[in-house]
Amino acid sequence: MKITAIRGHLMQAGAPGHTGWSATGKSALATGRNWFFVTVETDAGLTGTGEGSGWPRVVAAAVEDLSRILIGETVRDVERINQKVRVALMGHGQTGVVGMGALAAIDMALWDLNAQALGVPVSALLGGTVRASVPYYVHTADVKAATAAVAKGIRALKVGGTKQIVERAFAIREAVGPEIDMMVDLHGPPWLTTADAIAIGRALEPLHLLFLEEAIAPDDLPGWKRLRDKVALPLAGGERLATLADMRPFLENGLLDVVQPDTGRFGGLTQMKKLAAMAEACSVLVAPHSGSLGPVAEFAAAHLLSAIPNGLILERLDPDWPGRETTINGALNLERGLISVPQGPGLGVTLNHDFIALHPSERNIAIATGGWNADSESEHVLTQARRPRAAQLPAHNPV
Ligand SMILES: [Mg+2]
Repeated sequence: MKITAIRGHLMQAGAPGHTGWSATGKSALATGRNWFFVTVETDAGLTGTGEGSGWPRVVAAAVEDLSRILIGETVRDVERINQKVRVALMGHGQTGVVGMGALAAIDMALWDLNAQALGVPVSALLGGTVRASVPYYVHTADVKAATAAVAKGIRALKVGGTKQIVERAFAIREAVGPEIDMMVDLHGPPWLTTADAIAIGRALEPLHLLFLEEAIAPDDLPGWKRLRDKVALPLAGGERLATLADMRPFLENGLLDVVQPDTGRFGGLTQMKKLAAMAEACSVLVAPHSGSLGPVAEFAAAHLLSAIPNGLILERLDPDWPGRETTINGALNLERGLISVPQGPGLGVTLNHDFIALHPSERNIAIATGGWNADSESEHVLTQARRPRAAQLPAHNPV
């Protein structure tokens, strides 16, 4: 089975209406959200589906360029195609999440094709079933959203941001009780100093979080080492990183308990499977990042999590933009906080091209405008003075 065409499908995705991501009004990220999918056609008549992120409009151009060197390749030669793409990218320098987003989309479609050809689910090719259903968590900005999610049967919640984060997290824990898993994501803003991240982390220790995510930016390795020494919480990170080499210092220095590769921008299932093995050797768990991803990557992540021994939990925006479900043919079966991994051939998902065509890409960049909004991207300064500190840090630091 040989590749005859690789086609990109870019769309403007709507904003999730009820998450802290957009409901705070402080992030315009959601309005610049694009989804990018690929279909890989073959001489066997089968079509594979994949998704890439990283900067979808730019990734779309990268996939178009890469397709020229991949026509005629054998679909089964997944590792060879991975190597060919990586060598082709060398001339552009370190292409980061753009290059690895393009590879992720193509690689995902290859796994889909090979599994379809064999009549087995992708999870069977990734190692077979360790668990038939995988847990997921949702984002909750406040007590109201948290209790609504728990009422729906969801068993794990994440609260994000830095504003009043300690107070919000304590209020949610009190409302949902100790049986619900909780996570906190500080989103690693460059304007959060390591000292302040440590203060927030220590104040959160009594909540027994499943993990504290991106307390500081991923490019501050010395800061991560200080954080690790000072905060007694499992640490998670890695969503902005693109390669195994990017992840290596975090693993070999023992800085992560949970690694969070983004399924659309970490080179695809091939590289994610390799990362899972690296993590396993370090007793680190895997919780794929979803963020702004569309629905195809979620199918891929579910297959991966079901097939690796150290899969922890999957991120999910729920509720999301209602068009999410219409973008694809096929649906994941969700029940009581668990995703049943599809057992049909391939990933178990195809694209609704008519719906995608109704939502052409308009823009894929966003930054909040209007007014001075301390401690947020609205201030438009990457490294900021943190003022007023007393109003932003936890009121009752137990240390
Ligand atoms: Mg995050």
